[in-house]
Amino acid sequence: MQYPEPIAQLIESYMKLPGIGQKSATRLAFYTLGMDEEDVTGFAQALIAAKRDLQFCSVCGNITEADPCVICQDPSRDQTTILVVEQSKDVMSMENTREYHGLYHVLHGVLSPMDGKGPDDINIASLIKRLQENEVITEVIVATNANAEGEATAMYLARMLKPAGIKVTRLAHGLAVGSDIDYADEMTLIKAVEGRTEL
Ligand SMILES: [Zn+2]
Repeated sequence: MQYPEPIAQLIESYMKLPGIGQKSATRLAFYTLGMDEEDVTGFAQALIAAKRDLQFCSVCGNITEADPCVICQDPSRDQTTILVVEQSKDVMSMENTREYHGLYHVLHGVLSPMDGKGPDDINIASLIKRLQENEVITEVIVATNANAEGEATAMYLARMLKPAGIKVTRLAHGLAVGSDIDYADEMTLIKAVEGRTEL
């Protein structure tokens, strides 16, 4: 027996999410059917609004409603330091510590030769342009994750930026090897920034 078309389509939609297989998608689809109509409408509208109203900041690459984003537009932030992260959610993790007051740059990925991902596939060119145009920037803190790709990306950035006289540092590894910065607790993140080392 086949499911009626609307629920079959809902199952298919859920299966597009990462880590959701047929079984979980089916469970979620039937759960959705049991939800209040108001909640379902709100859920659908949130999906559409997130996609429609958010864009990437043309300066730092972070997700934002306004371009440039509020962080890039804030003159009270320390304009001399850029912290480079893999994903927008890493900016949130760092902001939640309330201890970092500089600027950010979001790469949207890492270098991964195994997956054929080179410097042109992530948001590196705009970082270099930013550094060329803003001579006040003196330090780039590379906060990519503590795994092989994260390390390779950090080394690449150090090689590219150091000849231009920019200090390139890496988060101290209070972060366990292989760990993601968005899973680190706030105290660990603060310590990792304080204990950063020059590459
Ligand atoms: Zn920005």
